[in-house]
Amino acid sequence: MIINKYPGYQACIGMEIHVQLKTESKIFCSCSNKFGDEPNQNICPICAGHPGSLPSLNKEVVDFAIMAGIATNSKISQTTTFARKHYSYPDLPKNFQITQDNLPICHDGYLIIDLPDNQTKKIRLIRIHMEEDAGKNLHATENESWVDLNRAGTPLLEIVTHPDISNSQETKAYLTQLKRIVEYLGISDANMEEGSFRGDVNISVKKKTDEKLGIKVELKNINSFKYMGQAIDYEIERQIALLESGQKIKQETRSWDSKLHKTIFMRSKGEAQDYRYFIEPDLPILQINEEWINRIKKEIPELAHEKLIRFQQEYNIANYEADILVSDINLANFFEETTKFCKNPKLACNWILRDVLGFLKEKKLDLKSSKITPNLLAELLIELDKETINSKVAQEIFLEMAEYGKSPIHIIKEKDLSQIGSIDDLEKIALEVINTNQEQVKEYLSGKDRLFGFFVGQIMKATNGKANPKILQDLLKKHLK
Ligand SMILES: [Zn+2]
Repeated sequence: MIINKYPGYQACIGMEIHVQLKTESKIFCSCSNKFGDEPNQNICPICAGHPGSLPSLNKEVVDFAIMAGIATNSKISQTTTFARKHYSYPDLPKNFQITQDNLPICHDGYLIIDLPDNQTKKIRLIRIHMEEDAGKNLHATENESWVDLNRAGTPLLEIVTHPDISNSQETKAYLTQLKRIVEYLGISDANMEEGSFRGDVNISVKKKTDEKLGIKVELKNINSFKYMGQAIDYEIERQIALLESGQKIKQETRSWDSKLHKTIFMRSKGEAQDYRYFIEPDLPILQINEEWINRIKKEIPELAHEKLIRFQQEYNIANYEADILVSDINLANFFEETTKFCKNPKLACNWILRDVLGFLKEKKLDLKSSKITPNLLAELLIELDKETINSKVAQEIFLEMAEYGKSPIHIIKEKDLSQIGSIDDLEKIALEVINTNQEQVKEYLSGKDRLFGFFVGQIMKATNGKANPKILQDLLKKHLK
């Protein structure tokens, strides 16, 4: 869209993503790192920034950072240090944030993102560093604000790219891949709405023939993939239009107004803020040896792209099916568990993609909050496989199972839903239907083939939908001659 409108221009987009790590405790104290507790329940003198309190580093944060580094093809620094970044804000009682400055834990990584038509693109990462989060200001009324320090001192990874991204589609592909990686590593919930995966975007445009990058504008506080894409599209057009009309782009921070559907000015960045970084004197220089890195390498689980290939080979399912399954690690695990019980991967895959996802979408649920379990679904699929029930009845049972978490076998017994698979029983019913519908028999025999469906329907009606469809068809073919 942009390309067609302004073929001479190119957008250069860099991303800074903050990933909230799901460690047990905070980064520099032993307070609980739990989301959603009552305000100021999980604080101590260290994370509340009392003078004289001493931070000590949580090793799990370092482990998680190394994991993220390995999974993003980054180099892990042998020597890494923490630094103080000074600024003043009510949710930061120390008046500085402990972060990393010029010796971050990981550097020079990259991700290969998937684009339409089997295209790929390499997005280079400048760095990944560890830091503490600030607290949260809660604005109760116009004249009254509260500070909740539960989030103060919770661990973050900041993942920074080069400006290698060119449009909103590539942004989405990059974010999707990064989100999958941290979810599969199990180091973050990566929930954008809860703020555990949030990002800032740096965006500039330039003439394709220019070597130098344009003036960059920062987009902040955007909390969904959708808004991020819309904001980027808007911002690219806004900047090109400014240049085309001979105006200059100002270095500033803007946010996305989803109601007005445009980016709006937040603050000017005329002069870069001086944070007066210096090495954090209360934390030692951290040395990471090969042994440590090798130990973490062994702990790295199977990642999404590896699972995608394995699912196709091991379970003989299509690429697009495997792609949907691995898009969410919970869904991928659900599929494997179900298959382990029912031993029919193709059937499990079909039912998960059609019925399970359909049900969850309709009820606005996610897998974890629903009552559907791999055991229950497998129980249903085994009965279907054994032809105890036909697929129409199975769908009815599924809905009741999904809604109330009831056992399919129990529902079959309770409602007497077992399929009528006895040839003798079905033959009696088929003959009765043929006898009472002689008109239709004549028409069918004179060439009206589609009346076959009428007879199937009549028998299904007579058996409350419980007839074995295959036996039924064979019987009809035998007697309708
Ligand atoms: Zn604390």
